[in-house]
Amino acid sequence: MNAPLVERTLVWDNHGCMPLYPGDTRFLPELARYRDASVDVVSLNVGFDAHPPELTPRMLDTFRAWLDEHTSDYALATSVEAIERARAAGKLAVCFDVEGGTALDGRLDNVQHFYDLGVRWMLIAYNRNNALGGGCQDDDGGLTDFGRSVVGEMARVGMVTCCSHTGERTTYDVLEAAENPIILSHSNPRGLVDHPRNVGDDVMRAVAATGGVVGINGIGIFLGENDVSTETFVRHVDYAAQLIGAEHVGLSLDYVFDLEELEAYLDEQGSTFPEELGYRREFRFVEPERLPAICEALTAMGYSDSDLAAILGGNWLRVAREVWN
Ligand SMILES: [Zn+2]
Repeated sequence: MNAPLVERTLVWDNHGCMPLYPGDTRFLPELARYRDASVDVVSLNVGFDAHPPELTPRMLDTFRAWLDEHTSDYALATSVEAIERARAAGKLAVCFDVEGGTALDGRLDNVQHFYDLGVRWMLIAYNRNNALGGGCQDDDGGLTDFGRSVVGEMARVGMVTCCSHTGERTTYDVLEAAENPIILSHSNPRGLVDHPRNVGDDVMRAVAATGGVVGINGIGIFLGENDVSTETFVRHVDYAAQLIGAEHVGLSLDYVFDLEELEAYLDEQGSTFPEELGYRREFRFVEPERLPAICEALTAMGYSDSDLAAILGGNWLRVAREVWN
């Protein structure tokens, strides 16, 4: 009897959230939870727009130093080859992502700087407008001249451009300017749950047309009614796969490890997380441990092993192969 598919194929969770306090590594040993759930690659967030720009380089220092001290189980994954080597050695491959261009501090050369430190995707704007463009919960005025330069610079250095959390008008501007596949790293279909953080069918189709990928997140309010059951999660995966094809769907659970940190954000950043849009303290998440059950549920729905391998990680790997330098 074969081992379960989740153990035989590359599994890539494209967004996980460790607490963002420089020097604080308390939760990093919990990366083992991904390994134990058969995840091979995880992208860790290193800041979002509500933070001051100086936070991101400090978080990169913190996470990189910890990974350096734990090379028997973890590997910084800055190339497809490094991912394959890590997987063959039974290690969890880790790369980084930035949620919003505020972290660039207005400097185009920070794209290369962050790339050199392991950031492999960045989104344009986080819920609110910024110097690059519009957020999905703001009055979106479109991609700015600086935003356009950043998208071009990302293509040059090999960083993937993401339009999750970004306004629709800005997203279409990015898609028009795109030289590379564009991703929605962690965005669920608005066709199932009408929330501004979710994305419409047309946006999903346009992202797929670039060769990109839409990652489904495991956050209760975006799955609907704070329902984080496996059944509801796979309904979102299935909706996306039926709409744009299994070759354009991925996983990005967005699991938050430190709930106290999350509650502090919700309390302090009401303009980014307004209560009337469902941002409340009792947030629920699909946890990494659920991945084997998610894989089984999709198999039971009739997904072939090859479609599942694409959804579980193959599609993110394809984008990395095309875009990363
Ligand atoms: Zn996010």
